[in-house]
Amino acid sequence: MIVNYVFLVWTSFFTFFYGAHLTVEAVSKYPKLLIISMDAFRPGYVDDCLTPTIVKLRSSGVYAPYIRNVFPTKTFPNHHSIATGVFPEVHGVLDSTVYTSKDSCCSNRTLIGYSYELYHYNNDILPIWTLNQLAGKGRHSGVMMWPGGEFPYGCKKTTPTFSQKWNLNTSYQDRVDAVMSWFTHKETPANLVMLYFEEPDFHGHAFGIDSLEVRDQVKRLDRSLDYIFQQLKKHGLDELVTVFALSDHGMVNLNQNNIIDLNRYVDNSTYVMAGYSPVLQIFPSEGKEWDVLSGLKKAHSDHKNKFNVYTREDIPSEWHYAANNRTPPILVVANEGFAFQDFYKNIDAENKRFDIEPNPRNKYGIHGYSNSVLSMFPVFFAWGPLVKSGMVLDPFNNTQLYPLWAYILNLELEHEVYSRPNFSMLRSSTSSVGKFNPAITKPNVVLQVPFNTTRGQLNAGAPIWTYWFAGLIAVTLIIVITGVVALFCRSLSHRTSEPIIPQVQRNDVENQHLLVSESEDELRL
Ligand SMILES: [Zn+2]
Repeated sequence: MIVNYVFLVWTSFFTFFYGAHLTVEAVSKYPKLLIISMDAFRPGYVDDCLTPTIVKLRSSGVYAPYIRNVFPTKTFPNHHSIATGVFPEVHGVLDSTVYTSKDSCCSNRTLIGYSYELYHYNNDILPIWTLNQLAGKGRHSGVMMWPGGEFPYGCKKTTPTFSQKWNLNTSYQDRVDAVMSWFTHKETPANLVMLYFEEPDFHGHAFGIDSLEVRDQVKRLDRSLDYIFQQLKKHGLDELVTVFALSDHGMVNLNQNNIIDLNRYVDNSTYVMAGYSPVLQIFPSEGKEWDVLSGLKKAHSDHKNKFNVYTREDIPSEWHYAANNRTPPILVVANEGFAFQDFYKNIDAENKRFDIEPNPRNKYGIHGYSNSVLSMFPVFFAWGPLVKSGMVLDPFNNTQLYPLWAYILNLELEHEVYSRPNFSMLRSSTSSVGKFNPAITKPNVVLQVPFNTTRGQLNAGAPIWTYWFAGLIAVTLIIVITGVVALFCRSLSHRTSEPIIPQVQRNDVENQHLLVSESEDELRL
């Protein structure tokens, strides 16, 4: 009997211990990050009633009242700056469409939109998922519809282990389920995943930022974040994955009376244009440069305070936009709440897409203005094992996130163009953080990852044999203790209650139902 008892205890313990251990084993041994983008999510959307989950997650981790994005405050430039840590003039994604040229002659320019070429102005710039994937040694990246995420990068044309192309028919739940399966993949578990949601941008453009439609989308995103939280918990990842949630830009309403028709001042056959309101890239035809510029200057003097005209040399340096071959000779930028004639096409497209009755009083959402405009500021919050709890951060630049994530993931940065990461949000020791300052501006320095939580240390750094060794010792101890206790009980029972065992054995067949229903005390009696 004692042998059976010991065997039962041992097998139970083995199953429990190694069952739990296998759960841990199914995930990556590296620090794990989930980066979530909610397109055009304004910080002002966060509200106790609308977004209870976000309110809860923010207070359990860190958040900033807003962060600073890059100019233009549009989707592709900002997603790529978040992913690469550099400004548009470095990565070259100046807008949704740009003119590009294989030589220095302006007449050979080609208009390109969302494509491999748009994202490969500078082949030395690697997105964080590529950097992580290239570091190897069991690191795996996943990219769920992140803009630019479906293209290979680097000289080896590296792609992430897991990726899903832009497909708006994929439900939010399916996206999250796929992300969880990437984190828990048996052979190649991801340690970095980028997850993209296209709302509330889509409905914001069509109905304006104050609309019921946008409120519904904001609530839907809040439910999705709750689903992410629950799924992380279900998979045992809630204390292993640190989640960064952010947006690329804000949005503001556009009154249709605020659309400026530049065609009244400039012959539209004398130039070509890339980009969309409120930022237009103007490329005058050869010999028409002065005509175009003087026409735009006249429009500007007639519409003071509504927009600005810049030659390439005049573009504000703080935008980090001018030093690129794709930068246009003339840039026209509307002030907040204004747009140009191209926006009429946008209105038609939104009306068609959402079956909206055309009405001059309809409001439409717009973004892209200067990154100093308050309504363009993005949201930011993070929670999980590597960030502090209950901390409000000072606003920082979204380009500071890439080097921060590289630091957490212990990835090597080879360029001198990165901002200093915002370390203040990390649960890191001061000494670890101090290593970054000189290292970031020097090539080929492997940055150290801070871990001060027990869980983080266990998961990130402990070699596999330590789990088995600890388990072996624990099992041995359990067997010894169980055996000693069982022997002690047996010797006691022999001395004090000899009749009990024969009595039960005698009656066990005919009185099974009684044995089940009777209490332990009654049996002893
Ligand atoms: Zn966007």
